[in-house]
Amino acid sequence: MEERFSRQVILSQLGREGQRRLHVARVLVVGCGALGSHTAAALLRAGARRLILVDRDILELHNLHRVALYTQADVGRPKAEALAEHLEAIDPAAQIQVHVAHFGPREAEELVPKVDLVLDGLDNLETRYLLNDACIKYGVPWIYAAVLGVSGMTMPIHPHRGPCLRCLFPTPPPPGTLPTCATHGILGPVPKAVGAIQAAMAIRFLAEGVFPVGRLFQFDFWSMDFRDIAVERRPDCPACGRGEYEFLRETSRTVTLCGDAVHILPHSREGVDLEQLANRLSSLGKVRRGSGVLFFEVAGISFTVFPDGRAIIKGVKDPARAQALYDQYISR
Ligand SMILES: [Zn+2]
Repeated sequence: MEERFSRQVILSQLGREGQRRLHVARVLVVGCGALGSHTAAALLRAGARRLILVDRDILELHNLHRVALYTQADVGRPKAEALAEHLEAIDPAAQIQVHVAHFGPREAEELVPKVDLVLDGLDNLETRYLLNDACIKYGVPWIYAAVLGVSGMTMPIHPHRGPCLRCLFPTPPPPGTLPTCATHGILGPVPKAVGAIQAAMAIRFLAEGVFPVGRLFQFDFWSMDFRDIAVERRPDCPACGRGEYEFLRETSRTVTLCGDAVHILPHSREGVDLEQLANRLSSLGKVRRGSGVLFFEVAGISFTVFPDGRAIIKGVKDPARAQALYDQYISR
């Protein structure tokens, strides 16, 4: 056994067999921002060397206060690529596959069946519904995790053995109703702490096949109030109850328009409250109401948002980047 893991292998909970299982496990990390970078770093250091990293975004200066491993020299680089380099520097035996792409239905169908466990490093709820559908369809366990402001939460999901994300939140909220890190901020240590908890659950699962299913863990890192909430399976759950997987059937949500503009189609059919959205965005950029639409400008990018949740984003050519901006400002 390698010296690198000698202080971990002597844990009675893990042992040589647990360590061996960590080495051969395949793990998919979806999202390589704050949560994903901390979780991936903790898992790689523990000996889970076969990682697949997916992220569509580039690292920005305002990410650095909360992420793991990245340095200022990585600003402007694709996150998944930069993270893979840092991980390989920690352990040259790592076998890391990188996908710089939006995690859509095609990527979900391709990657989820290949792995033993999926870790949520996402920054938006819509993609989590897609991930949940894929994991339930292929019977692959995953760990839901989310952070915002001074709080975070996580729930391990073992398909058909406990509740899934749609048992917890049956329908996606309409675009523009949830706060995001861009609008409400995030305390640096929060993703690190939640990532560590996610990684600890992942290590036990990979070593022993055991998850604390049916439990949502909520943490407030300001008041230090921690809650452990029981969650039941719903027999009528569209994903794990009825097997409908509607998010896997969605076709591409972005359409590139002429010039540097991209059209984004929302998942939800409930529409968006433009008044509420205008209030939320007013401190972040220039907001103007037109006839039945909302105009929003920030950092050289302009958004035209329609009441049905559609948006035209000008100033970007790359559909994945436009999708990221939509999720950041309009919908989480
Ligand atoms: Zn369910």
